Amino acid sequence: MTDRTAREIWETALGEIQVQVNKSNYRTFFEKTVGLSCETGRFLIGTPSVFVAEYLDRSQRSLIEKTLIALTAPGTSVVFQVTGANAPGRSETRVPQREAVFFNPRYTFDSFITGAANRMAFAAAQSVAENPGHGYNPLFIYAGVGLGKTHLLHAIGSSAQAQGRKVLYISAERFTNEFVNAIRLRQTEDFHRRYRSVDILLVDDIQFISGKEQTEESFFHTFNELHNANRQIVVTSDTPPGALPLVQDRLRSRFGWGLTVDIQPPDLETRMAILRDKSVTHGVVLSSEVVELIARTAQGNIRELEGALNRVTAYAQLVGAAPTLELVKKALASVSGRSGGGHDGLPPVPHNRIISLVAENFQVTREDITGRRRDKKTVLARQVAMYLIKQQNGCSLAQIGEEFDRDHSTVIYACEKIAGELAHNAYLDRLIHTIRESLAG
Ligand code: ADP
Ligand code: MG
Repeated sequence: MTDRTAREIWETALGEIQVQVNKSNYRTFFEKTVGLSCETGRFLIGTPSVFVAEYLDRSQRSLIEKTLIALTAPGTSVVFQVTGANAPGRSETRVPQREAVFFNPRYTFDSFITGAANRMAFAAAQSVAENPGHGYNPLFIYAGVGLGKTHLLHAIGSSAQAQGRKVLYISAERFTNEFVNAIRLRQTEDFHRRYRSVDILLVDDIQFISGKEQTEESFFHTFNELHNANRQIVVTSDTPPGALPLVQDRLRSRFGWGLTVDIQPPDLETRMAILRDKSVTHGVVLSSEVVELIARTAQGNIRELEGALNRVTAYAQLVGAAPTLELVKKALASVSGRSGGGHDGLPPVPHNRIISLVAENFQVTREDITGRRRDKKTVLARQVAMYLIKQQNGCSLAQIGEEFDRDHSTVIYACEKIAGELAHNAYLDRLIHTIRESLAG
């Protein structure tokens, strides 16, 4: 869909919204918004200020999505982007690069550091980006969390898109939600058409569709149509195809038709290479000893490694000194479990303070967050609270679970979900940033 159409669709939507909200509300919050783009089920709306973006996101999302869904496709979700008061005006043509919106510009082949543990996956990903539908179809990539699955999918996506291919990236979780919506709205035809009209379909975390029978069925047919038409399919998962607890054996066996590659946790050399690369991006200079110490401390996955580097960088900035070995040891003390202190080497923030701030920012109550409510807003607030407690204080998952009266797998899920969301949800990113600032202040 072109940006021009997005603008027109939004104009139409505004016409409908105008009769549903009161006049001053409309003036203050809707009048200066503009439809920027619409792709892969995300409708990007430009707003004149953060204030407007936050209000719309918080209070008008369902009205906006309902209106847009009626005009576009089931499952469409909105993303707000602050474009400033002057630009882009409705009649202006300046629009952001669409690619940058949908594929994380940090997740490219260039920024992917290879080593023995991920070389196969990297080569296969490059190959399908260059030559979709011809070699390995499907390409099935499996790995534990934080090892680069999403990174590779985005890299394939942006690279192929730059070559003019029609690419669709979707998490299996979202695929499921959209499918369920499509059924509810009796728009499964549109739903299927959307997925079956692409050159490359990238499906992240396929394990999420396990056991959801109708969604599996729908995906099975999508898979077949694309495969028969020599369209490329790339799937990621946390287990090999054989271990996926799918209802459909035939879907599981299809996943094995092409090439299956795994990514293992990186070895020390690769971790060091990644740190060197990322420290350049961060603009910090690290000695080899420091790089090695961080790489030895954060062994699990690359997200952890990045977290450790971020802490070291933040700590160095805080104390105003270049990161020496001593300083790194201090900054990472809580990670390696030698200190009960906060994650930044700072005193831990009381959990109830984090929960209160999250509650305030999400406009729910503290009791909602620690309670059992299941509506979308409360669940998100709860997940953010878990994520922040984990990030700020480095508590164990079990500890956090206890606080919320949930088991540790719920906490893992929450942390991964939020970490993943942050990659493409600028609003959430900002909100969490705001909460963090309040915590520090
Ligand atoms: P997954 O989807 O497997 O959980 P991600 O793709 O989200 O993992 O990766 C977690 C983080 O680690 C991301 O910030 C990503 O850019 C980074 N990362 C993963 N693998 C590499 C790599 N080989 N080189 C550089 N960065 C990497
Ligand atoms: Mg991922």
